[in-house]
Amino acid sequence: MKEFRCEKCNKLLGKYRGCRELEIKCPRCGRVNYLREDASAATPGNNYPGGTPVVVSS
Ligand SMILES: [Zn+2]
Repeated sequence: MKEFRCEKCNKLLGKYRGCRELEIKCPRCGRVNYLREDASAATPGNNYPGGTPVVVSS
């Protein structure tokens, strides 16, 4: 389990395991914290307006 802490006040908001996306509003300072695991899934330039996604096979 990994700890998820507030970016602003470092309050422990919860623990997670195998979570991809998470959004928690800190009850102490009101900061909305976002968590996004699995950075490899977040591919920049994932928008292909009117185009075809390029599949890279390795
Ligand atoms: Zn906070």
